[in-house]
Formats: sequence, structure tokens, C-alpha cells
Amino acid sequence: MTEHLIIALSKGRILEDTLPLLAAAGIEPVDDPARSRKLVLDTTDPGVKLVVLRATDVPTYVQYGAADLGVSGKDVLMEHGGDDLYEPLDLGIARCRLMVAGFPDAHRRPGTLRVATKFVNITRRYFAEQGRQVETIKLYGSMELAPIAGLADLIVDLVDTGRTLEANGLVPLEHIADISSRMVVNRASMKLKHKPIKAFLEKLEQRLGAA
Ligand code: AMP
Repeated sequence: MTEHLIIALSKGRILEDTLPLLAAAGIEPVDDPARSRKLVLDTTDPGVKLVVLRATDVPTYVQYGAADLGVSGKDVLMEHGGDDLYEPLDLGIARCRLMVAGFPDAHRRPGTLRVATKFVNITRRYFAEQGRQVETIKLYGSMELAPIAGLADLIVDLVDTGRTLEANGLVPLEHIADISSRMVVNRASMKLKHKPIKAFLEKLEQRLGAA
């Protein structure tokens, strides 16, 4: 295990919202993460390095200790499953809702409903807990197209303003979970690097409390 802290960040909209939080904790990447081709970024804190990953890889890096900490959406954590990570802080960023959506009459279709989503684990769990039998279809993007193209009756997707659903004639039908980004910590790092991790989390907490 290395001496410095490695923090895994999710590419995309979470990254934009995370950088100001880290800056408030005294950690700023030396190179612009949106432009740099480096995979491990030095920061203004010599004890901290950043890795910028695909969102779905963040829990994996933290679980195995390749990163000590990570910033990950609750949706990604729920889909990753397991309780092998500490989740000490809700960062309150990238807020949205995980919803079941479809055409307004979707539930009235006869037979087993088909649900298209990239969140197959969450979807299977959600419907199984309710004793509802559905067929889950894995997609990697543009979930909203599935009901229009006749691929599925329902979708499970993130909804923010609801505009994407509306633009495609779809409506939110069932609320699965409120989503925001969380700070997660590797269990071994939490013990072995307790002091710097605690100090970092406290700085973030102060900033969140002041926001
Ligand atoms: P909206 O039209 O504002 O409801 O946004 C919906 C689209 O943005 C869908 O394609 C979602 O998958 C995506 N989306 C919404 N919120 C988030 C978020 N917090 N993180 C990632 N994707 C999101």
C-alpha cells in the first residue's frame, strides 16, 4: 500500500461538481483532468493523487484498494452491490432520481413486461422485492428509445429535470431511489491511513456544512 492517498473520481458531470469540493479541501489537480492524458494526476497536496475513471469502475478500484477513496453516484454504488465499502459522506452533488418510466399506459400491457436499463441488478432487485415478474434487457445508453422502438415496455433510468422523458412522450411511473454522489472509502485504507483520511473527510464535511 502506497503512502499517499489515491482518490478515484468519476469522469463527466460528477467530475465537474467534485473538483470545487476538493479545491476547498486544498486539493487541486496540477494538470487539467479534462485535457490531460495522464491517468494518475498529481495535486497541489503532495500527499494526494487523483485517478479519473469511468463512473462504473470507481467502486471496483476502491473495493480492491487500488484507490483509497472514491467519488461515486449512489446509482453506481447500488448497481455495484455489496457492502464492502465505507460510505461516510453524501456530497449532495449530481442529484437526481432513479425512476421506472414508460408510456403512460405501459402497466396495462398484458403478459410479462420488458424493462430496458443499464441498471440490471437494481432493476431485478426492485421488481423481485415486489414479487413482480419482468424481463430485464441490458442497454448501455439512450434508454428512452427502447419503448419507442418497441424493445421494452418500461425503462429504469436517472431522471433530473424530466425533459428527456417528456421529449420522447414518456412519463415517470415509479420512484426507486433518490440519487446523489457519495464519498466511499476502502476498508483497509480506513484503518491503515486513518489520520490523513479522517483529516480529508473533516475538511470536506466542513465545506459541505458551509455550502
Ligand atoms: P433530464 O432530461 O434532466 O431528466 O436528464 C435525464 C438524462 O440525463 C438521462 O439520460 C439520464 O441518464 C441523465 N442523467 C440525469 N441525471 C444524471 C446524473 N446525476 N448523473 C448521470 N446522468 C444523469
